[in-house]
Amino acid sequence: MSTLPELSELERIMRLGHDHLEACVACEVSAGNKRFPVYQLTLGNPDPTLPCIGFFGGVHGLERIGTQVLLYFLRSLLTRLEWDKSLHHLLQDMRLVFMPLINPGGMWLSTRSNPRGVDLMRNAPIEALGDVPFLLGGHRISPWLPWYRGTAGAEMEIENLALCQTVKEELLTHPFSIAVDCHSGFGSRDRIWFPHAHSVHPIEHLADILRLEELFEETYPNNRYLFEPQSVQYRTHGDVWDYLYLQSQQDKRKTFLPLTLEMGSWLWVKKNPLQLFSRHGIFNPSVEHRLHRVLRRHTVWLDFLMRAASGHESWMATGPTRLRLQERAVARWYRP
Ligand SMILES: [Zn+2]
Repeated sequence: MSTLPELSELERIMRLGHDHLEACVACEVSAGNKRFPVYQLTLGNPDPTLPCIGFFGGVHGLERIGTQVLLYFLRSLLTRLEWDKSLHHLLQDMRLVFMPLINPGGMWLSTRSNPRGVDLMRNAPIEALGDVPFLLGGHRISPWLPWYRGTAGAEMEIENLALCQTVKEELLTHPFSIAVDCHSGFGSRDRIWFPHAHSVHPIEHLADILRLEELFEETYPNNRYLFEPQSVQYRTHGDVWDYLYLQSQQDKRKTFLPLTLEMGSWLWVKKNPLQLFSRHGIFNPSVEHRLHRVLRRHTVWLDFLMRAASGHESWMATGPTRLRLQERAVARWYRP
């Protein structure tokens, strides 16, 4: 029995949803004398021709809010399955994958990295093109410094191997899939980041990302996220979503859109400067009403993405329209 509150809540949710969920332990990790499971949950129709969405969180142990947002959303989905016929219909037409706590060892130890000192978002076998910021961009100096990539040539950390296996087997087997990975800590606005992180070149699916952004703003005009390629802020080595996106591109017929929700926590600190003195403070909302607001707000986004994945054929542009969208997207993000 674990004493990590997020893991206990996940296990409660698994009991609540056992009629609808398939759960497995993707890997187990050690932290001190503790062992923790990394769970992978699936629900909905397993038919690989249908669209799929994957929800990921807890990659960085300090960013507990990402895991909490996903647990709140998953609990609400499972509760709705008790009575919501439309949700049952939706799940007949798509697949959902959840991996809400990828780095339980880091969360237990209150570190960004995993228990071996490796930053899982710097650990994939991919090199940035050009200069990266010192340390922040990923380095191999020492696991005692933040943003450590791991040793050169070594296999990825087991948490990342489990994450990549889940994405390859559960998402990339589908013709259309979206991944959303929930983080916090950067800036004062909520952002949606997309590849690349390793290079300043636009991805081939930039048109689809722009269309998705427009669709969200038309559907929820008061919910604002700042969409941008991660490379606009800083470039990094070893980004696991860049790595998986490039893997997905080995089959050009497939669309895989990996998105990172980066919850802007600096605003929480500005509203409550005492948070600066708490180790968890700058990554997580500390006041209860603010926590509830954060959980509610991002649920709208997660629910939207689920429905957008299911209905992708009605909004994805093709032919000349798609080319024009791609040009517009390049102008917006790469030639401002
Ligand atoms: Zn993070």
